[in-house]
Amino acid sequence: MKTYSKYLIAALPLWSVGCLVILFGGCYGTGDQLSEFSFNGNTMGTTYHITIIGEAINSSQRSTIATNVDSLLQEFNHIVSTYDDHSEISLFNRNKSITPIPVSTALSHVVKTGLEFCSKSDGAFDITVMPIVNFFGFGFEPGENRFPNVDELDAWLQLTGCDKIELGDSSITKSDPRISIDLSAIAKGDGVDHVASYLMSNGYKNIFVEIGGEIVTHGTNRQGKPWRIGIDRPTFGGAPGADLQHVVRLRDMAIASSGDYRNYREVEGQRISHTIDPRTGSPISHNLAAVSVIADKCLDADGLATCVMVLGAEQGLLWLESYPAAEGLLITRELDGSFQEYMTSGFRKYLAD
Ligand code: ADP
Ligand code: MG
Repeated sequence: MKTYSKYLIAALPLWSVGCLVILFGGCYGTGDQLSEFSFNGNTMGTTYHITIIGEAINSSQRSTIATNVDSLLQEFNHIVSTYDDHSEISLFNRNKSITPIPVSTALSHVVKTGLEFCSKSDGAFDITVMPIVNFFGFGFEPGENRFPNVDELDAWLQLTGCDKIELGDSSITKSDPRISIDLSAIAKGDGVDHVASYLMSNGYKNIFVEIGGEIVTHGTNRQGKPWRIGIDRPTFGGAPGADLQHVVRLRDMAIASSGDYRNYREVEGQRISHTIDPRTGSPISHNLAAVSVIADKCLDADGLATCVMVLGAEQGLLWLESYPAAEGLLITRELDGSFQEYMTSGFRKYLAD
């Protein structure tokens, strides 16, 4: 399976290392009341890391949790992944029908959210962007090594736009049989929320769940403090966690990022981003290099980060500022190679540095 790409937030050892001083002094070490159980794996073409803090979890419980989380993610991937030929979304994409196509509740939920972002961003975010993503080589097809011609751009106008699909109670209708949907911009965020709900419903209150850089935190880390998460500086070729722009402290919040510096290709001598502006049919070409968004749900943070990435720094900052209950950090790449940062008015309260 190819990737859903990945990015940018390093879920760094920051959340697991060190013996931080807690409020009443001292540190939790081996033998103390709070224990830490971490496990990881692969999903959606990237990795996941999960940490649970709390009462000691015995080895049989550990193996049950890890197995159940992995199965949950496999099932979810089998619904939303366009890299799985047999997933529900792939079958939907190949279904050349303009009569309602029945879909599962899970698929309907993520598509509904995608359509909401589409309308709130006036089409900057668009789940029907799949043919353009494929053309540029960021989807499940190899892609072209050239820019599109006028006929291709015209064809995309017929095939993209969220008004071209209609969501019913448990079905989706395409207005053109060739329409296909790409959920990669929000699938990881939704997957993180599903895992967090599963763990919370099983009584785990202090959790850190990360898939490919999209993160949900609940409760506290092992030191009884908010989780610490590093945000990478958007340097081309930079290793995750090697150079941080900021560290944030989160508790009961999600954070997700989009950026231009990890998933890109070179076409006709130009570096092109995997974020597409569906309104022009081209990869974005402005100077916004990365954006991280903090929100209650990771699905929202993930979708909002992609919206802002398409809108660019100036418009994206204003748009996010007016969005209720979400905060963002935007980093632009300037002509001299330096980085400039912009924050929504409430972002600063999360900074740990
Ligand atoms: P990542 O998945 O790397 O964290 P994003 O969440 O921003 O980054 O998702 C980028 C992916 O979303 C692209 O690889 C592509 O599949 C899809 N995509 C690209 N442009 C758009 C867009 N304008 N609206 C919705 N999805 C998009
Ligand atoms: Mg996203």
